[in-house]
Amino acid sequence: MSITPLMPVYPRCGVRPVRGEHCHLISEDGTRYLDFASGIAVNLLGHSNEHLIGAIQRQAATLMHVSNLYGSPQGEHLAQRLVDLTFADTVFFTNSGAEAVECAIKTARAYHQHVGNTDKYELITFKNAFHGRTLATISASNQEKMHHGFLPLLEGFKYVDFDDLEGAKAAIGPNTAGFLVEPIQGEGGIRDASEEFLKGLRALCDEHDLVLIFDEVQCGVARTGTLYAYEQYGVTPDVMATAKGIGGGFPVGACLATEKAARGMVIGTHGSTYGGNPLAMAAGEAVLDVVANPEFLAQVNATGERLRGRLEQFIGNYPDMFELVRGRGLMLGVKMKIEPRPFVAHMRDNHQLLTVAAGDMTVRILPPLVIGDAEIDEFMDKLSAAAASYSVESPAT
Ligand SMILES: *Cc1c(COP(=O)(O)O)cnc(C)c1O
Repeated sequence: MSITPLMPVYPRCGVRPVRGEHCHLISEDGTRYLDFASGIAVNLLGHSNEHLIGAIQRQAATLMHVSNLYGSPQGEHLAQRLVDLTFADTVFFTNSGAEAVECAIKTARAYHQHVGNTDKYELITFKNAFHGRTLATISASNQEKMHHGFLPLLEGFKYVDFDDLEGAKAAIGPNTAGFLVEPIQGEGGIRDASEEFLKGLRALCDEHDLVLIFDEVQCGVARTGTLYAYEQYGVTPDVMATAKGIGGGFPVGACLATEKAARGMVIGTHGSTYGGNPLAMAAGEAVLDVVANPEFLAQVNATGERLRGRLEQFIGNYPDMFELVRGRGLMLGVKMKIEPRPFVAHMRDNHQLLTVAAGDMTVRILPPLVIGDAEIDEFMDKLSAAAASYSVESPAT
């Protein structure tokens, strides 16, 4: 047998973390890495946050899981907090981002079915989006590399250019149910939508009674310096998917919706065995305790600005390698002029610095939100050393 016990769907690298300490990961062989990837925007509080660990330990010892057939004081409490903190009136908890997006898609379809628009099932989505790896969520993305081998796709998605309001408007037809969009594309390369674009989508939804869904799985939960990115645009969605950071490393996701948009999501229409179980709720509560306050958010903004300033200054030293810095808060991307993947591997293998490659020639910089000047200094030292050794040893690949 040559297949590995772990289904070989990931191109796993040689780093084999066995322990985490604040903003560092320690590999099986003892090597220490600076983690500016955070499990892809997940470990908001770093790796050994006592508040999060304590909350999970206490809840694990009290009650881990019960069925959604019973009342959920834990779920009600976290849902109420999210309702109080956001545009939403109601919340469905999931175990992942894709499930949260899946619930959002169902919510939009169910809304139109419920109000009698029986032919409105199609969502307009945006090129280079990433919404997850289930059949519905790969169908929602135009990226063919995710479709290969899995056809036929789910019907009901139409792709138009990201940040192109005229294109989005022109795509509206008799079957259109709404728009599904990442306010800031993550996998697509840390590309933030313009305010004009998101405001325009909001206006189109209001005009045509369409559902506006934001996928904030990557950009949400304080990552960009506000609890959710939409706050910075002055636009509220009707439905929003959140996950990644919300459990701080424990699998938690949620689909948030207004009362109006959730009209079709009535008893029996949706479910999840694990979704919203007490252990997951304890993790979500602990993360919100830390991040959902103005001082913490101000700190994310200030830290993000310092890091961005340092990066912008630095890339000027290597005009052949780096093009620009973009993003918001601590969701930053460095667009490169050369292939980013080999450079990400070089930083990792030769300088013990973890980042993540993304589309559009971009390196994603997604540190834990709790970094301070010590981590920024260490990051800049490693990045400088990596750029110096890369340009000497292996010019543009
Ligand atoms: C990661 C991601 C998802 C999928 O989340 P999973 O937890 O991997 O299912 C969906 N949307 C966006 C924007 C993401 O970044």
